[in-house]
Amino acid sequence: MIPLSKPIIGPEEKKEVNEVLESGILAQGSKVKELEEEFAKFCKTKYAIAVNSGTAAIHSALYAIGIKKGDEVITTPFTFVATANPIIMQGAKIIFADIKEDTFNIDPDDVQRKITEKTKAIITVDLYGQPADYESLKKIAKKHDLRIIEDACQAHGAELMGEKTGSLGDIGCFSLYATKNIMSGEGGLITTNNEEYAELCRRFRHHGQSERTRYEYCDLGYNYRMMDLQAAIALAQLKKINNFTQKRIENAQKLIEGLKDIKGLTLPQISPGVKHVFHQFTVRCDNKKIKREKLIAFLKEKGIGSGIYYPKPLHLHPHFKKFGYQEGDFPVSEKASKEVLSLPVHPLLSEKEIEEIIKTIKEFSRIK
Ligand SMILES: *Cc1c(COP(=O)(O)O)cnc(C)c1O
Repeated sequence: MIPLSKPIIGPEEKKEVNEVLESGILAQGSKVKELEEEFAKFCKTKYAIAVNSGTAAIHSALYAIGIKKGDEVITTPFTFVATANPIIMQGAKIIFADIKEDTFNIDPDDVQRKITEKTKAIITVDLYGQPADYESLKKIAKKHDLRIIEDACQAHGAELMGEKTGSLGDIGCFSLYATKNIMSGEGGLITTNNEEYAELCRRFRHHGQSERTRYEYCDLGYNYRMMDLQAAIALAQLKKINNFTQKRIENAQKLIEGLKDIKGLTLPQISPGVKHVFHQFTVRCDNKKIKREKLIAFLKEKGIGSGIYYPKPLHLHPHFKKFGYQEGDFPVSEKASKEVLSLPVHPLLSEKEIEEIIKTIKEFSRIK
């Protein structure tokens, strides 16, 4: 079986975890601090704050920029639910904007159309490992005095014009969930150059206590703290991230080369100036020459895992439909959800396995 994703756990992770176990300090401590320092260096931001999930990171970021009841926050419906739920958690209103056909990322023109006097922020998603169009989005944000929260949960180490994700908006949010490009099982990181935002995130993860004055509650907060055990795993992973990324990019190049002549299959489009880190290698099936559900079944029969991210855009789920959205509101996202298919691209794939994937899809395109 060639799985769609697989966590990489080596002796380095085990050694780091053992150190924590032997120290007897399992909750937030020196490993979390070290991870924050190393991750800020990696993203070239002044601050990084560790939390216990990507969801907590996005929630904290919204709090830090002051999102509250009555505010509107614009985001994409073609994402994981954790991008959008924290907007509701802060009592604000979700306003969706459609995506671009080629990159699956939020369409700046549609963002522009959705702005009202209540709009306070945009949550961009660097979907599948490719940064959104920040050049256009930043212009819009500047013109309307909006903050940009970057959901980089799928894009650790990706770049736009040489700048790293996490530094492309006002605050960056990362997930360390088990299937992400680097992971700690569960976990999250926030990055920013803004000292006030950093302090507010630290407070928010710790029941509203300033870490300088314990048992002084400044505001509502949560227990969003990361364990040193998690930070230990993430630190070991961070040391290897450049190798992981390189391997993903090489695997993607091999897949692109091998699959490029198959009719009915659209390969990932990489925007100019972008370093795409291929959290997912996502193709489109036209459903005429290449029928997606049949291809999935064929791959499965041959022992190859695949996945659909995402089978339904957020606005078509009951949870979001109640805000008045309906079918046809975001046609580009809706079309994408019917066509996308993610193939294995993770760093543990062997040359032989990549050839197997290519061979199998070619075979399918001939016989159908
Ligand atoms: C994984 C992910 C998240 C949230 O991550 P958790 O760590 O599971 O809370 C948010 N947004 C996107 C796009 C993701 O892929």
